[in-house]
Amino acid sequence: MTSPKGTFDILPSSDEPWQQSHLWRFFEEKVYSAADLYGFEEIRTPLFERTELFTRGVGDSSDIVSKEMYTFDDKGGRSMTLRPEMTASVMRAFIEHRLDQKASLHRLFYMGPMFRYDRPQAGRYRQFHQLGVEIIGSKNPLYDVEMIDFAFSIYEKLGLSHLHLFINSVGDPAARKAFSAALKEYLPEERLSEDSKKRYHTNTLRILDSKDPQDQALLEGAPTLADFLSSASQDHLQTVIAHLKELGHTATIHPRLVRGLDYYNETVFEITGGGEQAQNAICGGGRYDGLLKTLGGPDLPGVGFATGIERVLQMLLAQNKAPLKKTLMTVFLIALGDSSKELCFKLLKELHSHDIAATMDYSGKKIKDQLKIASDRGCRYALIIGDEELASGLAELKELATRESQKISWKNLAAVLKGVLS
Ligand code: AMP
Repeated sequence: MTSPKGTFDILPSSDEPWQQSHLWRFFEEKVYSAADLYGFEEIRTPLFERTELFTRGVGDSSDIVSKEMYTFDDKGGRSMTLRPEMTASVMRAFIEHRLDQKASLHRLFYMGPMFRYDRPQAGRYRQFHQLGVEIIGSKNPLYDVEMIDFAFSIYEKLGLSHLHLFINSVGDPAARKAFSAALKEYLPEERLSEDSKKRYHTNTLRILDSKDPQDQALLEGAPTLADFLSSASQDHLQTVIAHLKELGHTATIHPRLVRGLDYYNETVFEITGGGEQAQNAICGGGRYDGLLKTLGGPDLPGVGFATGIERVLQMLLAQNKAPLKKTLMTVFLIALGDSSKELCFKLLKELHSHDIAATMDYSGKKIKDQLKIASDRGCRYALIIGDEELASGLAELKELATRESQKISWKNLAAVLKGVLS
């Protein structure tokens, strides 16, 4: 049996380096420390929600909802969907728990698996993981800036470089309506790809997203959103770009950037890496001022992003910035004989109770084999107890890297070891 197509296992030592669990933990630790620094608080929601949340929240005409959702009827006949993204879930939780009454501004972040029935390919999975943030409660463009800066601070903490930030404004509903009409008038429907023909009627803006070369050619010279933006929208975009620059982030305007989801307004952005990954964004997001209200909540604006953890880890490896696996084990207990095994078993618990990372092997293997296991596990010390050590009350503590040994008392072991370690 293998894991389902488009999914993967994260293992202590996977042949695929980005699937090694220590790397995922490294990523998560950087996220938590950045979140503490910026004041983002964590939110966790169920992996599945009522299907209706996503059809309303993400939009019927998006690829995610129309083609990619894992939807099933539960035993009670209710339609449920594995979350394809988390913004809609965050909004649902926000409304359900009346978070608007608890504070006027919320900085939230999440990490976890998302599910999309997508064609698996490099950098594209059916169960993938996102880190995302949502700032809810203000239209102020400085929050757009802070959020993008937060994303960059995480990439910097991880050691990533050569990232490009592309930004655009999709304006307000009136601008999008006027632009859609102009685009429809400009584009010859009959020459568009099959997908874009559908979008022509359901969501014309999304034609700009098309990767089809024929569509791309037809779009050359098409009107751009910029021509339709109100002066308020233009100001918003320019304020964001200027303040990003102040923080050291260069944003390039990408006039055809609209992003796949229906709920965006004003700022939209993507972050990509250089080289091979250039076509694969590692991060995308934008402002979604009407979304909470659409879902039946208070009329509060919001802005957010999601970054794909797989792609970030792959980029980390491609840039040779992935850390080596850290040695976590301090002591490996080696018992030679049944009586010392009983003693070591108790000593192991004593060390754990005193926050000293320790492990042992119960199989009674020869000392040479046990020392090898200890080295393979990356333990710092081996503590060896045989009949002689049992009788004398002194165990042999061997530092595995230097092979140096010393005798230490196994009575009161935790205190003695702490002394050695300090
Ligand atoms: P989206 O939610 O589509 O805006 O995607 C945000 C980010 O999630 C992207 O920039 C990718 O890094 C990542 N992502 C989206 N879909 C997938 C997928 N199927 N597999 C892996 N990563 C993905």
